[in-house]
Amino acid sequence: MKEFYHPKIELMDREDLEKLQGSRLKDRVKRVYERSKFYRDKFDRAGIKPEDIKSLKDITKLPFTHKDEIRKAQEKYGKFGGLTCADPKDWRELHPSSGTTGRPVGTLWTERDIENITDFTARLMWAQGVRPGDVIQNGFSYGLWVAGLAVHYAAHKLGCFLIPMGATSSDRQIEMFQQWGSDVFFATPSFAMYILEKMKAKGIGPDDIHLRIGSFGGEAGAEVESTRRKLEEGLGIDAYDIYGLAEIGPTMAAECEAKAGLHWTEDHHLVEIVDPETGEPLKEGEEGVLVITHLTREGTPLIRYWTNDKAILIKEKCECGRTHARSPGGILGRADDMVIYKGAKFYPSQVENVVRAFDKAGDEFLIRLEKDARGLDICTVVVELLDKSAKREILEQELKGRLKSALNVTPEVEFVEPGTLKRTEFKAKRVIDNR
Ligand SMILES: [Zn+2]
Repeated sequence: MKEFYHPKIELMDREDLEKLQGSRLKDRVKRVYERSKFYRDKFDRAGIKPEDIKSLKDITKLPFTHKDEIRKAQEKYGKFGGLTCADPKDWRELHPSSGTTGRPVGTLWTERDIENITDFTARLMWAQGVRPGDVIQNGFSYGLWVAGLAVHYAAHKLGCFLIPMGATSSDRQIEMFQQWGSDVFFATPSFAMYILEKMKAKGIGPDDIHLRIGSFGGEAGAEVESTRRKLEEGLGIDAYDIYGLAEIGPTMAAECEAKAGLHWTEDHHLVEIVDPETGEPLKEGEEGVLVITHLTREGTPLIRYWTNDKAILIKEKCECGRTHARSPGGILGRADDMVIYKGAKFYPSQVENVVRAFDKAGDEFLIRLEKDARGLDICTVVVELLDKSAKREILEQELKGRLKSALNVTPEVEFVEPGTLKRTEFKAKRVIDNR
């Protein structure tokens, strides 16, 4: 059986890969300038002509694209905001963003886009060990959210047997694990943790199901050390991270079997890490904002899209042999989710890692921010207390101490009864800011 899905692409010399990216970039810039009213106006304002982009390094001449701009363009130019480069006869699917932080942004896939998405998703699934004949239980949400369909199409292409469950009913998911002997499971990490909790309550362990691989996306989690350990041990699987975002597309990066960070599909997506303040490119390995350029997208291609997600990027060849760049640790956090408390900055995933390694508390948590009577900020980490035998004050001190060493600041700790915090089939909301 072949080891790589597309060896020619996945093992390509970086020099050749960057040449390919350069020529695709040139082509994309020309195409958006000719066909997208949004980009023609934007490049004209910035004094950029397609001829100015001769190779990959010219990317920094191009302005960033922000979500707010696209929203405004949709109001001004209607429908896709003058973004689309495809003829209406080639339009196939509409995938707007969820609109949790404002009016949804309309994203469009053509037939060719669907082919590409299917192909690189299949490639990433193969890198996680998915093989023809595997039973795939897809617990990603179907419909407008992009990940469900991407995995669905890719499972067909790989020759797998698919159970298109969607993000519904934890009980039914467990029944399906047992009844059909599912090999591979896709879900958000929060949903997988919820299912795991239900399994434990029913007395179902990893030996009672057949799962071998778990691929978790939609939020950070699989690369949070203590979460990964719990999912792997509880479900008897290898757990991998997979990443996408509505405006750019689904499942465009994923961990390989080496679990050494998200591998980007760099032949389709040009990935940069830039300084959040200045927008200047950062050195390899430095943490900054993830900026992505579509290299092959036809429907609604984006150039230098400012994702607001934080990550690092490493171009060193992975131990699996693949040359495509990686982001170890996955998405470190969304710029919007960063908690600033008493001068310290941290992401919910750092709290998650501490809480899930603390076995006297449950796996769910909430970070609550508020003002006290004097107007000072208070940050409280709310967790469910499982161990009732030890003194609350002692456990509180212990958890506070662990949080302090992870976050460089000491939040308050509040214990609540098991089952109090909300479980989810989709993405968890971890921060409540009442300030
Ligand atoms: Zn690898």
